[in-house]
Amino acid sequence: MSAREPVASSGPTAAADAPHLRLLQLLGRAVQQLDPVRHRRVFVNRTLRMDRIEIIGFDMDYTLAIYNQPRIEALSVACTLRKMVNERGYPQEILGLHYDPQFAIRGLVVDRHHGNILKMDRYGYVGRCYHGARLLDREERGRLYRDQRVRLSQPRYAWIDTLFALPEAVLYARNVEILDRELDRTGASAEERMRRYDRLWTDIRECIDEAHHDESIKRVIKANLSDYLEKDPDLAPTLHRFRSAGRRLFLLTNSGLDYTDRVMSYLLDGELPAYPSWRSYFDVIVVEARKPQFFTERAPLYELDAQGRPRSEVPPEGPLLRSRIYQGGNVQDFQVQIGGRGDRILYVGDHIYGDMLRAKKSSVWRTAMIIQELEDELTRQARVQDQLQWLEALERRRTRIESELSFQQLLLRQLARGGLALPQTQLEVTPDVIEAAMAEIRRRIEALRAAHRSTVEQAEAREREIDRTFNPYWGPLFKEGTENSRFGDQVEDYACLYTSRVSNFLAYSPLQHFRSPRDHLPHERVY
Ligand code: IMP
Ligand code: MG
Repeated sequence: MSAREPVASSGPTAAADAPHLRLLQLLGRAVQQLDPVRHRRVFVNRTLRMDRIEIIGFDMDYTLAIYNQPRIEALSVACTLRKMVNERGYPQEILGLHYDPQFAIRGLVVDRHHGNILKMDRYGYVGRCYHGARLLDREERGRLYRDQRVRLSQPRYAWIDTLFALPEAVLYARNVEILDRELDRTGASAEERMRRYDRLWTDIRECIDEAHHDESIKRVIKANLSDYLEKDPDLAPTLHRFRSAGRRLFLLTNSGLDYTDRVMSYLLDGELPAYPSWRSYFDVIVVEARKPQFFTERAPLYELDAQGRPRSEVPPEGPLLRSRIYQGGNVQDFQVQIGGRGDRILYVGDHIYGDMLRAKKSSVWRTAMIIQELEDELTRQARVQDQLQWLEALERRRTRIESELSFQQLLLRQLARGGLALPQTQLEVTPDVIEAAMAEIRRRIEALRAAHRSTVEQAEAREREIDRTFNPYWGPLFKEGTENSRFGDQVEDYACLYTSRVSNFLAYSPLQHFRSPRDHLPHERVY
């Protein structure tokens, strides 16, 4: 479905090629519209007025460039496994391992010491955990992660935070299964197991990293662009609309010049007559930006020649020029050289850490996050809307029962201990009265326990159904149980706006006032 469905038109209908409508189309407003379809909306965490934004920057991979996820994953997996076998001595057997792309979602955490993959909520509570294909039960999970908080800054943990990284999690889980067979056979000690799980992660990480750097992956993509990239017909009109509303645009990507040129040419060259090449959409182009360090360090910026070599050993001074290509740099100098106030810059990216979190923590740039999974996630959410509300009601009921149960148990203990501190009363509290009160409380406790069991069973059954609708292994991307998942929490914290693709902005005025939803006090909510 197009995000550009007209919702209102004015005046008598005219043929689409009538000169005045063609003129309006050239100005970036072929039709008038107000409400984009839900799964193509721009969602707002923090109010952002587009009329205050002067410069809009874009990341390339997974932001302007939408990849065919199953294909790029299959390619990454094949390249990585080949390296593991040929260069690191892993058994041929791993080449044939079963790869289920559903097994990974963004926001998962790898525990390199135990060979586990976890999903956490915003408080760091581990809601699910797999060892290989095995889902750990509540008890085992509690033993490993309840007493010690999962501190993600420790090298023991690795975070799956981009779509590029999904295959790493799947490869790790499958290889842990193979490794376990060997460790069980040889009766490996706990230390040996930990060392091998840790080594396995390092090997996968390094092999996939090499596959990105040594062109194994990019060579194949460049030779088959249409297999790996989805061309969005609304992308060029969206960029054009920002430009025609007076915004300056820049591209800031970690990819190298050669790859950027191939991908961007495929996506934009020849799309609109006013733009002879993809470069003409942008006022400044920076490749190999080395985000997140771009935001945290002070690397110099170089101008590149057509072959991608630095033109000079000295970084250019003064403003950055149109139709030139730059490499590297850092946010502080860049802001001065592009000539804009930080809070007038909107940066659009897909990487929660490298694009959003770092930009927010190291600059005052506003941020918009592209979350490719969002369209699917919203469609699924609509399917289970009733179930979600029902689950929430069951969770509230469970909490009330638990609180009442604790209180009744406290009363029972007080009665059993004797020496009750009662308010002044005519009542004669004989041992018989106490015994009868205790029997009554025991009956109540029994009833509460039965109600608790049934509520938990119902909630678990609903949760399983909801999870199956989203992802059979991990459930929803943005939620863990009834809390926001860690990923959802980070999106809320660091992305001012979020949406599924750049061209969703086309359905909005380029001067749109994106307002965050009004906060509600608890008593104002409808449930
Ligand atoms: P951006 O999203 O446009 O900034 O570019 C992302 C770049 O990072 C692409 O060129 C990817 O190939 C590259 N990339 C993604 N994951 C890895 C990795 O694990 N190691 C090295 N490069 C990576
Ligand atoms: Mg990216």
